[in-house]
Amino acid sequence: MFDDKMPVCTPLEQIGEFSLIKHLTRDLVSRQVSTVKSVGDDAAILEFSKEQLLISTDMLLEGIHFNLAYNPLKHLGYKSVVVNLSDIYAMNARPTQITLSLAISNRFSLESLEEFYEGVKLACEHYQVDLVGGDTSSSRLGMFISVTVIGATDKKDIVFRKGAQPGDLLVVSGDLGAAYMGLQILEREHKVFKVNPHMQPELKGYEYLIERQLKPEARKEVFDLFKSMNIKPTSMIDISDGLASEILHLCDQSDLGCKLFEDRIPIDPQTILACEEFKMHPAIAALSGGEDYELLFTLALKDYEKIKDQPLLKIIGHMTSPEEGAQILTQYGTSTSITAQGWDAFLKKSTF
Ligand code: ADP
Ligand code: MG
Repeated sequence: MFDDKMPVCTPLEQIGEFSLIKHLTRDLVSRQVSTVKSVGDDAAILEFSKEQLLISTDMLLEGIHFNLAYNPLKHLGYKSVVVNLSDIYAMNARPTQITLSLAISNRFSLESLEEFYEGVKLACEHYQVDLVGGDTSSSRLGMFISVTVIGATDKKDIVFRKGAQPGDLLVVSGDLGAAYMGLQILEREHKVFKVNPHMQPELKGYEYLIERQLKPEARKEVFDLFKSMNIKPTSMIDISDGLASEILHLCDQSDLGCKLFEDRIPIDPQTILACEEFKMHPAIAALSGGEDYELLFTLALKDYEKIKDQPLLKIIGHMTSPEEGAQILTQYGTSTSITAQGWDAFLKKSTF
């Protein structure tokens, strides 16, 4: 069935669940010594020595989190893994294994699932994690993806959302708002396409934004940097729902306020250009956009020297007493409370 003469579009009914799983997982390799038994039995077996294990799960639903009209399946496979790894890095731990569960309707072919798994395997290779199991089911409508990631680290290295102290620096990696603007561009071009299928999408000049939306990366290099510079943040979170919402999580869990400086928020020039086009304030894209998968963390002042010249990291504010609340100092010099929604509620995608 899987020989060279395979038609380019093999219906899943022709294959059966057992052969499908076998086919999709046939060339999996284990890279982690902690993987004792991978795919193929009733359960995977992992063995860790003294480290603590971390587990996190994320679900991606067609029509809610992705649109197959413009999310290529290979990218989607890659992204499904990456968004989960990001949660483990946000605890200052290293991801080691994942499991992947899928529900698909019969409109998917074997080849389309192979494409999806190509992306999954690429992410596993890039981040050196093992795919050790999962589940496969049919669905009446659409595609459901659920990834569980397992990570490990020394207990003393784990960083929580709580733990920040007044006066700690508030630091973010990379830049913000690009993935959100990428989504705006893709949505716009998709609308044009629906009206006129002969129109080619206008994506030139937006490459960075589109890539940030369709093929995000988790911040492994920041985790590596912490290790090499002997830095342990006092609190940390990854940015999946927008800077505002994540800052509020750190403030809430650490029982502190903060002062964020709007003009210090790192925003890529392409994001700024796209915001001009969409008549949107770039800070809104960064604060409310989401899906950046950057790391937001707080750092004791004593570590300032270590990070001040790191091009990947930007100090955007500091933590204050809880009475002062979470405040943003705007570029006009006024101070406003940070709210997760309400900056521009209609921009916010529906998430739960
Ligand atoms: P069970 O009937 O016990 O649930 P399955 O036939 O679903 O077993 O799975 C057989 C093996 O294949 C297990 O090791 C399982 O973890 C793995 N597996 C199933 N679906 C997937 C998937 N989508 N991706 C990776 N591994 C999978
Ligand atoms: Mg099963």
